[in-house]
Amino acid sequence: MSLLDAYKQRPQHFQKIERGQWENWMWQQQNAVRTGLQLRKMFPNLPSNFVERVEVWEKKGFRFQVTPYVLSLMRYDEQGNFLLDDPIARQVFPLQVWDHSQRPDEYGSEKENWENSEEMISPIAQHKYDNRVIIYTADACLGYCVYCFRSLQSNAVEEKHGGRPHWKETIAAIQKLPHVEEVILSGGDPLLYDNRGVEEMLSDIRSITHIKAIRIHTRAWMHNPYRIDEEFCALLKKYRVTEMGVHLIHPRELTVELDAAVSRVRCSDARTMLMTDTPLLRGINNNTEILHELFMGMYTMGIKPYYFSHCMPNVPAADVQRTSVKEGARLMQSLKRKISNVAMPEYIITSRLGKKTVPEALDGGPEFCYEKDDNGYPIIRFVNWKGEWETYLDAPEENVA
Ligand code: SF4
Repeated sequence: MSLLDAYKQRPQHFQKIERGQWENWMWQQQNAVRTGLQLRKMFPNLPSNFVERVEVWEKKGFRFQVTPYVLSLMRYDEQGNFLLDDPIARQVFPLQVWDHSQRPDEYGSEKENWENSEEMISPIAQHKYDNRVIIYTADACLGYCVYCFRSLQSNAVEEKHGGRPHWKETIAAIQKLPHVEEVILSGGDPLLYDNRGVEEMLSDIRSITHIKAIRIHTRAWMHNPYRIDEEFCALLKKYRVTEMGVHLIHPRELTVELDAAVSRVRCSDARTMLMTDTPLLRGINNNTEILHELFMGMYTMGIKPYYFSHCMPNVPAADVQRTSVKEGARLMQSLKRKISNVAMPEYIITSRLGKKTVPEALDGGPEFCYEKDDNGYPIIRFVNWKGEWETYLDAPEENVA
């Protein structure tokens, strides 16, 4: 498979940028598109209703940020406009104006965060499963993805959940939990910090003697792969980072630059495993050939496809990008034994209480029931990891892209 070279594909607006500057991760962040106005200047021929939607999104205080690198992954027409149905554009530009009041579920504007209060051991650390704690290290991302509830969080929530002010109390709280063996640095994006900031966090975690494993979950792989630099890879080795989460969705993300970032990690002698989480998204990757190319592409690069996640109900693009859970099960069936087993991820749904594996059988199973609620909306009733029955909001089969 030939990989896309993002620098060579950069849009007209960045033609004069030298490769050295382009590959500077901070330059990428500084030059990210964050407003409708910037978008209008950069792409004057984009349909006005598209840009207006971005501006409404912006006025509502939701997050929007696209790095030049991500702009270079998109496909363009002859006038220099990116295609609106492009699988990368559909991940980062608002596809609809989010309206909480229209949701058929419980997620209201005051419930933007999905953390259960009883699981929080500090304002930024969640202790859901016995042996691990997840820390929301940053209150922002390198870029935002419209299929993720993080992009929905308003500034009010951002202030309440701001990361580093609560760091020391978080470390102290973990120190008091001797059964916790693993810490996951998640976000926002921990790689939004520079290497000195990352080192401070890793050093504090390694000072807790009962912590065996450290994971770092980042979407730098897609938004800004230059962030995964040599200095950062040296930290992986120094602090024995066990695993890095790689969040990839479409084969167009398998670039020369991503491959180089993977090589930096794998050649660093850090022994850090790379495992993916791929959300299933209508109009982007709900297709057997695309998933085949993606899973095998990641595998051959040295990244283990780990989770294939049904798109959660509380995300901005839910009405447009969610498929039914069963569609994902059908896609998994279509790939089974067609691609290498080691390249097959586990298909899951994620509820407020945790993850659940979707059964291979299309009619579910005794502990995974495809049903309808009183209004005829599809739901799944299932037994969660605690052995309790729970309900998950499915999406209709005929959901329109
Ligand atoms: S998927 Fe990751 S990078 Fe994207 S908005 Fe969510 S937390 Fe941020």
